[in-house]
Amino acid sequence: MVEAFGVRALRAGGPEVLEYGPLDIADPGPGEILVDVRAAGINFIDTYRRAGVYPMDYPHTVGSEGSGVVAAVGEGVTRWSVGDRVAWHDAPGSYATRAIVRADMAMSVPEGVDFETAAALPLQGLTAQYLVTGSHRVEAGQTALVHAAAGGVGLLLTQLITRLGGRVIGTVSTEEKAELARAAGADEVFLYGDGVDVAQTVRDLTDGRGVDVAYDGVGKDTFDASLSATAVRGSLVLFGGASGQVPPFDIQRLNSAGGIFLSRPSLAWFVRTPEELAERSAMLFDGLENGWLDFRVGRSFPLAEAAEAHRALEGRATTGKVVLTV
Ligand code: NDP
Repeated sequence: MVEAFGVRALRAGGPEVLEYGPLDIADPGPGEILVDVRAAGINFIDTYRRAGVYPMDYPHTVGSEGSGVVAAVGEGVTRWSVGDRVAWHDAPGSYATRAIVRADMAMSVPEGVDFETAAALPLQGLTAQYLVTGSHRVEAGQTALVHAAAGGVGLLLTQLITRLGGRVIGTVSTEEKAELARAAGADEVFLYGDGVDVAQTVRDLTDGRGVDVAYDGVGKDTFDASLSATAVRGSLVLFGGASGQVPPFDIQRLNSAGGIFLSRPSLAWFVRTPEELAERSAMLFDGLENGWLDFRVGRSFPLAEAAEAHRALEGRATTGKVVLTV
């Protein structure tokens, strides 16, 4: 057993169910590494798991993403040594001072990249990457709708789409967020608050045609507008529910909307092997090293203040990535 401190969700509920305290962590097993965590990424999926939107056992230590230094290696691990700097996107219990990570799914952190940035990259970066290359392959000249364009995934999506030669129409809730989305490369940004006809605004910005692809991570509040704003034979990629989950849906609506391709993907289905992880992360590291991709750490909180970080994320009070420092 290894002694550590971390943040557990004691039962399903709001941020108040999160408790910081001592943890016992097993020694690394075969194929695993033990990491001294330096920063943990905050993601919406952590809030879904905390709230019970996704079925979980309680109590559980929250988090899945982070960066840190290898403290011990399990049997059979040859790729990593004690002292190596690593990052990961899927290690349960990452809101902690120490975490167990699958050795074959860890990524090396280059010397020039600090731990906060390294913890900000994996989950949202890989997500944006598979959304533009896997769920729908963005091609030069296409137009994409990106909801919550100043969010963690939103800013990355915007940058990757413009890198591929696409045009981005972004939605955001405030002028400050609009500025960030524009700075990330969005061609058109508008506020999608009360009373705004989102679908009509998108149609007006596309000469009535609609977008080739709508990326919707907001879910319940935006889904209908996304469907109406998608061009004939376009793609609607529903990848999250920041405003709530989309209720059951009549498939016939895809026909009446113009033969729309609807998908509801998750990162796990697009990073299934170490080879796939390497291939997808290569594009992100290229962006980082060559300066065309900006991983924005919008805000950081100390580990013990994870509940505050969840409140901020769920309260739409954040831009870019939120991380916990350890
Ligand atoms: P963000 O940083 O984008 O934060 C969510 C944003 O959604 C808010 O800042 C807000 O932007 C917007 N929003 C609109 N309505 C609401 C609401 N009622 N409550 C809260 N936020 C709202 O978060 P992430 O980048 O971490 O995640 C974005 C989405 O991507 C989430 O749905 C997440 O689940 C999903 N995701 C999916 C993955 C997958 O593989 N399927 C992987 C990773 C993330 P504004 O104020 O501008 O409206």
